Amino acid sequence: MEVLYNSTRSQEQAVKASEAILKGLSEDGGLFVPDHIPALDISFGALADMSYQETAYEVMKLFLTDFSEDELKDCIDRAYDAKFDTEGIAPLREADGAFYLELFHGPTIAFKDMALSILPHLLITSARKNHIKNEIVILTATSGDTGKAALAGFAGVEGTRIIVFYPKNGVSPIQEKQMVTQKGENTLVVGIHGNFDDAQTGVKRIFSDKALAEEMEKKGYQFSSANSINIGRLVPQICYYVYAYARLLKAGKIAEGERINAVVPTGNFGNILAAFYAKNMGLPIGRLICASNENKVLYDFFRTGVYDRNREFVLTSSPSMDILISSNLERLIYRIAGNDSNENKELMDALNGRGRYEITEAMKKQLSEFYGGYADEKETSEAISKMYGDCGYVIDPHTAVASAVYRKYEQQTGDHTKTVIVSTASPFKFTRSVMEAIDPKYEGMDDFALADELCRIACIKEPKAIEELRTAPVIHDRQCQVGEMKNVVREFLGL
Ligand SMILES: *Cc1c(COP(=O)(O)O)cnc(C)c1O
Repeated sequence: MEVLYNSTRSQEQAVKASEAILKGLSEDGGLFVPDHIPALDISFGALADMSYQETAYEVMKLFLTDFSEDELKDCIDRAYDAKFDTEGIAPLREADGAFYLELFHGPTIAFKDMALSILPHLLITSARKNHIKNEIVILTATSGDTGKAALAGFAGVEGTRIIVFYPKNGVSPIQEKQMVTQKGENTLVVGIHGNFDDAQTGVKRIFSDKALAEEMEKKGYQFSSANSINIGRLVPQICYYVYAYARLLKAGKIAEGERINAVVPTGNFGNILAAFYAKNMGLPIGRLICASNENKVLYDFFRTGVYDRNREFVLTSSPSMDILISSNLERLIYRIAGNDSNENKELMDALNGRGRYEITEAMKKQLSEFYGGYADEKETSEAISKMYGDCGYVIDPHTAVASAVYRKYEQQTGDHTKTVIVSTASPFKFTRSVMEAIDPKYEGMDDFALADELCRIACIKEPKAIEELRTAPVIHDRQCQVGEMKNVVREFLGL
């Protein structure tokens, strides 16, 4: 049965999957949501014998119904290949009574790779299907991580170009080095003299510049976006929940049909929403445990039904979760409002205006399968050192937030259901916080020395991504003022 995509903010005509991927966001500012969640049409027994790529096909074909089998398999094969450092793509590691689903084996050693390695292929396939001949130009402002994952995903993909702006003095030295050493003729990385907000505002302005769009059209270019609300990023994230369940079954860790819980370290609410969709497809997930750091908007929301962004923004050791507006939550709100775009729009307008909204009792009742928890900086750091001490397993701060929340959840509820904890970054990506949590004696050591030390104490090999960084030549040394961003874009496109 065909799945069409509706906007969360109006009853505009529903669009096909490929159109939703191309548009990213609906014209009314809403997010695209599937008009129904398809059920898995294959047994877990059969899934247990499948590779990651085969599993991904079984899941994605049910959502991206206007893609042909060949098109979708081609996208999957191009995405999940030797860019990942393990054949299993998303391996599970049993430690301290839970199963850690490692989503950091891709090119930038963090979980954004799971979606950003396939999005470029879904985008150009969607363009082709909709008879768009233009080259797709991705324009992104980044505070560090997403920019690199997007660059790695789009680099060398024919029919696309990618331009990334980052705040010249606003990202870590490793993050900057990761970006400015990016290979690929179709990539451009530019440091701006301003902060992340300046970069973001500049990008938005260029995006909505009608004259520029016309000029680009004449030359055969059009903009598209790779941000996390694109369903082309959401759908690929459902796959690894199904895959993890099948792996556990295959390994004899669970019985067919046995329920598991999932703990997800959460920022924008994309990853955990994918778990919710997996559950709605028929995957036996009991509780969806949403783990926040000290920016605990979501914890408060699940407890009280009030979403309130009016609070101090805290910088933590898990920066990818330092978020006060979890954009993907809108898809859940729309759903518990009974797929009512008017009601959802009212709440989102309130969030835009007053920075706050409250859901009704009836909506709140539908959230019982979610559990919100949070861990502060001390608990996070203790989770890292305890895991290393007890199991010799080193986890990154984002994963540690989830791990700490899981412990608290078990204590509070006495629920000992087998649990998958989503591990979203390699410890090598956050070496400093990780090593200092394990032993304060590491304070002051330089980043690469810390990486050497991490290899030694955990008996693991350094990921290729870090190894290459040590000697990679700088390719992008361009800098500009905020006001010059548009010119940089025109120049790169030869306008
Ligand atoms: C993006 C990110 C998250 C948060 O995921 P959401 O889908 O935004 O909730 C968690 N951990 C890491 C390492 C990330 O990069």
